[in-house]
Parts: sequence; structure tokens; C-alpha cells
Amino acid sequence: MEDKEIQIGKYKVKVLRESCIGAASCIAVSPSVFKLDGDNKAVFVDGANDEPDNIVMAAQSCPTKAIVVIDTETGKQVWPE
Ligand code: SF4
Repeated sequence: MEDKEIQIGKYKVKVLRESCIGAASCIAVSPSVFKLDGDNKAVFVDGANDEPDNIVMAAQSCPTKAIVVIDTETGKQVWPE
């Protein structure tokens, strides 16, 4: 399955499905953006939304760095650094 990505505010957020181990720490930090699907992989909640800082914190909480955050205003990858 393809990696899914969405835009929230200025951030493009992507879950690298193959890297996700279902640790769910992203969901603990940002349950309004992430949820687990039937394969125990993180996917996006419908209408996902959260504060930009919290989205980055959720990405930083992932033990396998499966969440990529890109600032579309600067074109820079915010996480992983
Ligand atoms: S924290 Fe990382 S490994 Fe855990 S569910 Fe979220 S994306 Fe997957």
C-alpha cells in the first residue's frame, strides 16, 4: 500500500507505512490526527487537524521515525531532521 500523506496548515504529513510498527505513541500525542487501521498501522483521522507544534511532537514521538513532516512554506523537512 502507498504511503499516505495529508496537508494540515503549512505542514505536509506523511506516514511511512513500512516503517510503522503500530507503537501508537503518535496517537497518544495527537489523537485528532492519527489512528491505527486494521493492520495496526497509523493512518489519518478523517478531517485530521491539530496545532502545528503538536503534529511535530507526534512525529518526534515515533520510535521508528515513520512520520515525516514537511513545511510547505519553506520546502524544508521539519522531521526527521
Ligand atoms: S508512533 Fe510511529 S510506529 Fe507508532 S503508530 Fe505512530 S507512526 Fe506507527
